[in-house]
Amino acid sequence: MYYPVLDEELPGRKNLALGMYVHVPFCSTTCDFCAFYQEKPSKKRMEDYFLGLQAEILRFPPHRSISTIFIGGGTPGLLKSAELQRLCSLLRSLDLSQNVEWSVEIAPSEITPEKLSVLKQNGVNRISLGVQTFDSKYMEALGRKHPVQKTFDAYKEIRNIGFRSVNLDLIFGAPGQSIEDWEKDLKQAVALQPDHLSTYCLTFEEDTAMYLRLSNGKASIDSEREAAFYELAWEYLPAHGYNQYEVSNFARLGGACKHNLNTWAMNEWMGYGPSACSQVGGIRRKNLPDIEKWSAGMLGTKLPEFVEVEKLSASDLARDAILFGLRMNAGINLLEIGQRFALSPACFMEVVRFLDRLVEEGLAHGEAGNQYRLSSSGRILADAVAKEIPELDG
Ligand code: SF4
Repeated sequence: MYYPVLDEELPGRKNLALGMYVHVPFCSTTCDFCAFYQEKPSKKRMEDYFLGLQAEILRFPPHRSISTIFIGGGTPGLLKSAELQRLCSLLRSLDLSQNVEWSVEIAPSEITPEKLSVLKQNGVNRISLGVQTFDSKYMEALGRKHPVQKTFDAYKEIRNIGFRSVNLDLIFGAPGQSIEDWEKDLKQAVALQPDHLSTYCLTFEEDTAMYLRLSNGKASIDSEREAAFYELAWEYLPAHGYNQYEVSNFARLGGACKHNLNTWAMNEWMGYGPSACSQVGGIRRKNLPDIEKWSAGMLGTKLPEFVEVEKLSASDLARDAILFGLRMNAGINLLEIGQRFALSPACFMEVVRFLDRLVEEGLAHGEAGNQYRLSSSGRILADAVAKEIPELDG
């Protein structure tokens, strides 16, 4: 089971937007909370990476025009200017839509005017700056080992070069962080006037240093405190011109991230690079999280190995469209989802009963025409709600 899947195989696919995700798996150090696949860069690994990427794109080329590109990591900003140019040239050789949204994730400490110019000249129009916090007390725990001033300098450089859209990533809930500290971070973020803000709650993923601290009793999870952090962001940011459009995402008018919207709508995306995930033609797959093995597989003559390959049915996709749609402030239109994924009347009614139960419990609002969205208390419990969505089998 692998690509290419012909457009004719699934009616309607030609009209779906196609996203492209490129994973750059290099980081100079590992943040305490990080569970992403990443390695320290070396000359050999970098060469393996580029050869693997070229081979992967040749073997599994995007099958239609690309609407959005997201280069994430890892730390894409760790690439030198010449390497960024190599990456951009490779992507520019593909069929990109005229209005492609092209985002690159960068950490403040990696930014130089030269790197930014390379990105701008190649058509990158959206920078996602990994701020995490403006508070020096929590910088190190959140993976930021540079002085706070570096973040301000980086933001200024990005604006000077004139990128169309800038996102700031913030993380809340570091051990010891108070609600007042979080408010100061929000205030500072708003003062910079970015186009988009993403605010994530610190998570304790297994096999991370943060998880070890949790297991040793040196950190704790306090869900009431987490809820208070979420609620503060949900009040503060819209009051300052940033509309919430998803549990963790806020944007000024027209600034929502198209790449994420495409993913959450269960359209299609192709992931390149070690550990990258793709979803195309009803197949979801994940690349090997190992540069050397992934690259060798892509350069070899046999079908490369993947960590996961899953054939998705239309009802699997419908369930995920409900799950991610409910996390959006706009919510879902169940009729549209039912029609798009040809849900059987029995499945449709099962979802209606589930959503009506959420409404009764005050976790969702139901509106005319089968429109549903989570209430504030539902959004706090979005992960638990997601687990309750019934499995659909037809
Ligand atoms: S959180 Fe990001 S920057 Fe930190 S180690 Fe993980 S991938 Fe690298």
